[in-house]
Amino acid sequence: MAFWNRKKNSDFISLNLTGPAETEPQSTASPEPVVEPPAPAIPNPVAPAPVALTLPEPVVPAPIIEKPVAPVPLPAPQSAPQSEDDERQGFFARFKTAVAKTRENLTERIEDVFKGKKQIDADTLDELEEILIGADIGVQTTMMIIEDVRKQVDRQTLKEVDELKRVIKQHLIDILEKATRSRGIASETSIPDDVQPYVMMVVGVNGVGKTTTIGKLAQRIKAEGNEVMICAADTFRAAASDQLAIWADRAGVPLIQQKQGTDPAAVLFDSLKAAKARNADVLIVDTAGRLHNKQNLMAELEKMKRVAQKEVPQAPHEVLLVVDAVTGQNGLSQAREFMKAAPVTGLVLTKLDGTAKGGIAVAIAKELNLPIRYCGIGEKAEDLIVFDSQAYVDGLFE
Ligand code: GDP
Ligand code: GDP
Ligand code: MG
Repeated sequence: MAFWNRKKNSDFISLNLTGPAETEPQSTASPEPVVEPPAPAIPNPVAPAPVALTLPEPVVPAPIIEKPVAPVPLPAPQSAPQSEDDERQGFFARFKTAVAKTRENLTERIEDVFKGKKQIDADTLDELEEILIGADIGVQTTMMIIEDVRKQVDRQTLKEVDELKRVIKQHLIDILEKATRSRGIASETSIPDDVQPYVMMVVGVNGVGKTTTIGKLAQRIKAEGNEVMICAADTFRAAASDQLAIWADRAGVPLIQQKQGTDPAAVLFDSLKAAKARNADVLIVDTAGRLHNKQNLMAELEKMKRVAQKEVPQAPHEVLLVVDAVTGQNGLSQAREFMKAAPVTGLVLTKLDGTAKGGIAVAIAKELNLPIRYCGIGEKAEDLIVFDSQAYVDGLFE
């Protein structure tokens, strides 16, 4: 259940991901020296790096504005270390809370339909169909489930609502697990330890939660004992960098950014150089989310990749597509467009806490055929969980 355990066991600090959110303990006695002496930020950098279509080698180093790492006062850990069982339970509980609205919309309605009924008949199946579609699990999936249920009812192998729920659950788990196995990257643990820095690029339409997710990931991965850096390659909006800087400060990780309008590929190139110079384990890259001109976006992402690979041959090792659960089917079609522009390896489903249509997890896993890696379940740094098919589906039905 480790979140990020590429490090050797001896270096591995358990994250307690599954329990209540963990913040870094603050040592009162002898505080760890801050590795990064807070350097004053350069207020106004010199002109941005000249934007060349193919970056010539050697590249003139672009000015790097590096945010000082401000130690952030964090609350002391609340609870004693938990046992693995407690952890697992806590993890399931968090999923249950995250999908509470969807559960009401799905399971409680299913129970209402079957209340007082002795038989599952054509009418009940129609209502069931409507409920499943209403929870956004997708038309295809709904039809498949209804078909299977109808067959089992005809054969008289399915009579009770509890059995019905079991059948639905199994279908959902099968779909989610198939997507996990199909392609993409299901876990950081499959990445060789000698990959350094491990480069994660985060992509998606504006407003889906990319920057927030990066902040959460940075904090988590750092708490596991890794050196993390963030690259602000969303240079399109000035506010994007400011927002990212707040998250970087909070997590206490260095942020590499440049003036608004700088070529994102140049920022990434600088970030990779900086990450290598500092022996960073992980570099997380924020990107712009414009989609209305797919051709441009594709060219921009491709250029970033090309330039990155001059520094780190396999980069980016992971491309996470962020999808906003609240936007439902709409978000799904945006994601489909995005996948044409970027070599996505996995999904992050944000705002699961904010929707009664959390069934969209099933629809996106099925239709995009990619593993869901993480879920956003709130706006705070600790509101990120590793996606787990079983915990998700249990959360929907219990
Ligand atoms: P970006 O444009 O893709 O970088 O999106 P942002 O990270 O700026 O997030 C857009 C909004 O969504 C912000 O108000 C976030 O606080 C909010 N948000 C992001 N993730 C979550 C989540 O998991 N749950 C909730 N409730 N809000 C979220
Ligand atoms: P639009 O009206 O939103 O399409 O923006 P423009 O096409 O007027 O873009 C203004 C400038 O910003 C141009 O020089 C573009 O090359 C640049 N630009 C547009 N979109 C992006 C983006 O997503 N990322 C980056 N880095 N630059 C962009
Ligand atoms: Mg952003």
